Amino acid sequence: MTQTLHSLELDPKLAAIVADFPILARPTSRGKRLVYLDSAATSQKPRAVIDALVEYYEGYNANIHRGVYEIAERATAAYEAARVKLAHFINAGVSEVVWVRNTTEAVNLVAYTWGSQNVRRGDAILVTELEHHSDLVPWQALATRTGARLRFIPANPRGELILDDLDRLLDGCKIVAIGHVSNTLGTIAPLERVIARAHQAGAVVLVDGAQAAPHFRVDVKALDADFYAFSGHKMLGPTGIGVLYGKHAILETMPPFDYGGDMIARVEYRGATFAEPPRRFEAGTANIADAIAFGVAVEYLENVGMDWIRAHERELTAYALDRLEQFEPRGLEIYGPRDPNLSSGVISFNFADIHAHDLASILDTEGVCIRAGHHCTMPLMDKMGWSATARASFYLYNSHADIDALAGGLEKAGRVFGV
Ligand code: PMP
Repeated sequence: MTQTLHSLELDPKLAAIVADFPILARPTSRGKRLVYLDSAATSQKPRAVIDALVEYYEGYNANIHRGVYEIAERATAAYEAARVKLAHFINAGVSEVVWVRNTTEAVNLVAYTWGSQNVRRGDAILVTELEHHSDLVPWQALATRTGARLRFIPANPRGELILDDLDRLLDGCKIVAIGHVSNTLGTIAPLERVIARAHQAGAVVLVDGAQAAPHFRVDVKALDADFYAFSGHKMLGPTGIGVLYGKHAILETMPPFDYGGDMIARVEYRGATFAEPPRRFEAGTANIADAIAFGVAVEYLENVGMDWIRAHERELTAYALDRLEQFEPRGLEIYGPRDPNLSSGVISFNFADIHAHDLASILDTEGVCIRAGHHCTMPLMDKMGWSATARASFYLYNSHADIDALAGGLEKAGRVFGV
């Protein structure tokens, strides 16, 4: 029988959250309940975020930082208020929050500006074997441009970083780029240890927080990260907006990334001086609506409670591991940590010799959305000898019923493929 949203028995807090996400109330084209287990790729959006976009375009659409009329002032105020919300969300200073398109752009900004100024031939750039392409390829490009050497903190097949050789890897290193949470395996990195030792060795640290900021409380000051990057679309916000946090004292030393309007102090025909951070890094008309809606998204997350979200996802991960383990005698293999305390809402697996893409297609017929492939971590897949994995990822709106639907889909795939 097809399950509907209304037939689910959810605890009242979870039921209220689910009801805030219009897409979760719409059946799939096959009439199934939408079971969304791909939030690591992008999250769904609550009504409040969608309404904030409509309200901006219908109510006070105007360019910012220039107009003196009422709706322009309202737009500027809302845009800057969103920056304040994001700063509070990660415990940063307001001038330390740079709007970018996404995590990828944040990493490129640092690799180009800070990198070009500070990294020289023979220096080392340290990344980890778990990095998403977005936190690897920009560093490869910087190494190619400068003649610096790329080094890697190794990972074991559980997705844990091996820090035994860290001091040697840090010798001569200018910058460490490290993911807070692996998007492929869900592992939480031992950031405190890496950051402390990197600083002792004189290196700065950029943290790719794309999979962390959506899921638990991040305090950039307590972490002592020099840069911290994340994307709005993975944390209930719109696509096209993200944040680069940078320590003010470091941002101040960096040249602009893009040049043009809104990032200048004064311009003459043959030269220009540039605005203070963060505006120095925000050339051209901003992504006004999406920044405002991103502010609404983090307000929503804070109202739910980041600690509640972390506990909820930990509980879902434990339940999902239990359900998936029941398929192990039939050849299901789980990668990454088995302890939900060491991971964050992501489980990667393969089921016998069923290709991950076939598995995802069969699950799709049941309304269950998972990701299959290399998850933008090709070198990690090569190292581990996996051609592809299936990945289920959880967020605040998921329930045991969603994991039961995943298990039901796996049963179906097992029948179809005779495993
Ligand atoms: N880093 C990690 C760990 C990610 O999971 C992702 C998105 N899959 C990115 C970086 C890139 O994010 P975006 O595509 O929003 O730039």
